[in-house]
Amino acid sequence: MLQEARELLKRVYGYDSFRQGQEGIIEAITGGRDTLAILPTGGGKSVCYQIPAMLMTGTTIVVSPLISLMKDQVDALRRVGVPAAYLNSSLGTGEYRDVLRAALNGEYKLLYIAPERLDGSMFGELSERMRIPMIAIDEAHCVSQWGHDFRPSYRQLAGWIGRMEDRPLVSAFTATATPEVADDITAMLGLREPSVFVSGFARENLSLSVVTGADKKRFLTQFLKERPDQSGIIYAATRKETEAVHEELLRQGIPAGKYHGGLGDAERAEAQEKFRFDETRVMVATNAFGMGIDKPNVRFVLHWQMPGDVESYYQEAGRAGRDGEESECVLLFEPQDVQIQRFLIEQGQGDEGRKSVQLSKLYAMMNFGRTERCLQQFIVDYFGEKGVEPCGKCGNCLDKSERLDMTSEAQKALSCVGRMKGRFGVTMAAKVLKGSRDKKIIQFGLDRLSTYGLLREWPEREISDWLYWLVAEGYLRLSEGQYPTVSLTAEALPVLEGSKTVVRRKSTSVRRAASAAASGEASPLFEALRQWRKETAAREGVPPFMLFFDATLRELAAAAPASRDELLRVKGIGAAKADKYGDALLAITSGEEAQAGRQPDLFQAADAGRAPARAEASLSGRGESGSHLATYEMFQAGGTIEQIAQERGISRVTAESHLMRCADEGLELDWSRIIPEDQEPLILEAASRLGADKLRPLKDALPPEVDYFAIHGVLRKHGLKSG
Ligand code: ADP
Ligand code: ZN
Repeated sequence: MLQEARELLKRVYGYDSFRQGQEGIIEAITGGRDTLAILPTGGGKSVCYQIPAMLMTGTTIVVSPLISLMKDQVDALRRVGVPAAYLNSSLGTGEYRDVLRAALNGEYKLLYIAPERLDGSMFGELSERMRIPMIAIDEAHCVSQWGHDFRPSYRQLAGWIGRMEDRPLVSAFTATATPEVADDITAMLGLREPSVFVSGFARENLSLSVVTGADKKRFLTQFLKERPDQSGIIYAATRKETEAVHEELLRQGIPAGKYHGGLGDAERAEAQEKFRFDETRVMVATNAFGMGIDKPNVRFVLHWQMPGDVESYYQEAGRAGRDGEESECVLLFEPQDVQIQRFLIEQGQGDEGRKSVQLSKLYAMMNFGRTERCLQQFIVDYFGEKGVEPCGKCGNCLDKSERLDMTSEAQKALSCVGRMKGRFGVTMAAKVLKGSRDKKIIQFGLDRLSTYGLLREWPEREISDWLYWLVAEGYLRLSEGQYPTVSLTAEALPVLEGSKTVVRRKSTSVRRAASAAASGEASPLFEALRQWRKETAAREGVPPFMLFFDATLRELAAAAPASRDELLRVKGIGAAKADKYGDALLAITSGEEAQAGRQPDLFQAADAGRAPARAEASLSGRGESGSHLATYEMFQAGGTIEQIAQERGISRVTAESHLMRCADEGLELDWSRIIPEDQEPLILEAASRLGADKLRPLKDALPPEVDYFAIHGVLRKHGLKSG
């Protein structure tokens, strides 16, 4: 079986080897075992049920709550020649009926179904009339109340499966399950002696870091400036923050989209598409954004605030680098942001039990923000995976700041907490250590403890902070519930006994990982392939990455295959894709195009008029007149200056000057895309005051966010043309 699985991996997907965990999971499933697989986002779960599905007789049912993901997966499967379909609310009645009929005829290897579609009668019909070797449950944590994304339709489904006679194999997949949630999934789905796999939570291509005490706005500006071509997501906790950050980015001229629950469906869909197609570079969003987003080239995920639990954090952060390339995850952490999350929990639905679970998850998240351990290790531990070494590249691993021996202060704090016998919270413990005369302290007789006033020279706030630090490092623990009490863990004992020292980083303010290495200069061949991919994808109406990932193109460019065999050796190219695109690719990589003089020369067109670019060839009838027309055409087609500059390998300034030249030549331009609405009156006013023959005095007189391009634009638009 495994041999066959490996062959399928190569033939269908074009991958040479399994990722960590995949092989074991496939072996368990094909060996007939119920399976629970906990693999992180991007870990490659789909392959784990798709390959067994191809090997088994009949139709595997895949339950998945993510409509957009179903479509992507089914498209991808069909593309590589595997018959698959989905049933969800996005289908019209007729389509739905057709798919159902074909399914009952056994025409699919995989049938994706949304859980709410699988009611009792549907389930009965399918299981009676189809041969179903396996039910694969994606996002299985949705079945658990203790998970962070409970869905009643999942709970019901578990009931149907449990009641089936002759029940098929059940495999469950999730990216986020603590050991408790994993147990709950097993119980709820009635998995029978399942093989359980937890692995691969460490994402080697992610550099995690936590930034505390930074001016967030300034940090963001600098961060984006250092990564001018990278695509990324900024997660904020609320709609209001999302709007504010989005506005700020637009003000800075960064092509950004926004996404939150307060926007209409159409608006959200459009924002998502634009992001997927790289039309916007940055997406600012609440956690509403992400269910189902599968954009592989997200280079960074920046959390404007901390989310409510480590599961959400890692799921969101994990949307970076799905293509395996170096990516960054930055959490802007301010301890007071905990209040927002606490508020969201308290306002949220759910009974007290659930809220108390959420609060303790929130404390774990807070610990992540404060820990000085390897951040990657912290997360991997949290999900129950053992034995992973420090990553060596997170903010904490890279932090070389001085350490202070804090053993004595730790002993004072720990012994005080020990004497309070787990009956009080952090605030009270801090008051005792401070030696406070607070009414409650006296009332409870806490001023008589031998540890009373042991840290009296510290501000009380710092003492609380110190206690929270001890929580984050695992010496203290907070109870669940709304008013958590603090108590010692087993880790505290060696410290109290004097056999373990406690060291703390001297400065805990701004720490962050070094920026991820830029992924290298693009070669001309890579650019040519990218251009081909873009055109072909546009023709097929799919996002470029559906054809090939950047990594595949890069490998193609490096290997420059000259034959089909060589082509098949490239990671990410299977037989189906080789059949479909092989000739076109070989024509590019073997240099035929170049020899025939058709090789696009975009990357050298540094200046107007030089190096005719392929885009210009399509400007029929305009002759040799120049590169500025190509820029114009791309701008008219909706490209932003930034995209055009990148696409054409020219600088922004050059692209801008192209458009101005077009305006001079009388071509129509959509000025509203060049001149921010609120700036136009300002610029006009300044021009009437200072004249329009020199730009510099205008620029100096205007607010800094008004750029030369807009000034230029206004002068051209109103015929005040300078210089
Ligand atoms: P998730 O676990 O988030 O559902 P996916 O199944 O979408 O992850 O896989 C993430 C990406 O990794 C996909 O693009 C997939 O094609 C790719 N992938 C899966 N298995 C392998 C493998 N063995 N080698 C290389 N890439 C793989
Ligand atoms: Zn690390």
